[in-house]
Amino acid sequence: MNRKELLHNLLPQTQCRRCGFADCKAYADSMDRGISSPNLCPPGGEATREALFSVLGMPVDPIGAIHKDEEILIARIYEDECIGCTKCIQQCPTDAIIGAQSVIHTVVEQWCTGCSLCVSVCPTDCITLVPISDLALRISAHESGVRYSEMKERLAVHGRLEEQREYLDVEDHEQESLKDIVAAALDRKGQVLEE
Ligand code: SF4
Ligand code: SF4
Ligand code: SF4
Repeated sequence: MNRKELLHNLLPQTQCRRCGFADCKAYADSMDRGISSPNLCPPGGEATREALFSVLGMPVDPIGAIHKDEEILIARIYEDECIGCTKCIQQCPTDAIIGAQSVIHTVVEQWCTGCSLCVSVCPTDCITLVPISDLALRISAHESGVRYSEMKERLAVHGRLEEQREYLDVEDHEQESLKDIVAAALDRKGQVLEE
C-alpha cells in the first residue's frame, strides 16, 4: 500500500466535503502531494488527525487542533413533510436514502454516515441530524468507503434515475428489505407502495 492509500484508509469515509475536497480520496491525494494540512477533517477527530501527521512524518501541530471528537449523528426524514423531490438521494454518498420521484423518502439508518449533505438541499426542511449514542449502530468507515465506490461506479454506468428505479424494482433479498423500509415509511404517512 502506498502512502496515498494509507492516508485515504485513515479517513472516516463520510465523504462529507468539510475538508473542502470532493471526497476523502481527493483530500488524501492533496495531503500526499504536500498541498494540504492533515488538520482539515473534523469527522476524523483527534485520533485521525494524529495518525495523518504520523504517516506524513510531521510533528502534530498543536495550534491546528481545529476539531474535537464530535457527536455521532445520523439523518432522519420527517416523512409527513417529504414531497418526494429526490434531491436528497442525489446528494447521499452512501445510498442511505431510498424512495422514488414523488414518493416518500426515508433514511436507511445503518448506512448513514451523518455527512449532512442531504440536509441543506431539502426544499421542505424535513431532514434533520440526530445524535445516536452507539458508534456500533453506524456504518463503519470501511463499509462507507465501499458503498461510495460502488455508487460512483453505478452512476457512471447507469446514471441516477436508473439507480433509483433499481431500488424498487429488483428482486434480490436486500432490495426486498429496502422495499419493506419504503413501505413502512409510506404506512406511517398513510399511503401504499404501488407494485
Ligand atoms: S470525512 Fe469529510 S472532511 Fe474528512 S476527509 Fe472525508 S470528505 Fe473530507
Ligand atoms: S442520509 Fe444524509 S446524512 Fe446520511 S449519509 Fe446520506 S446524505 Fe449523508
Ligand atoms: S429532499 Fe426532502 S422533500 Fe425532497 S425527497 Fe428528500 S426528504 Fe423528501
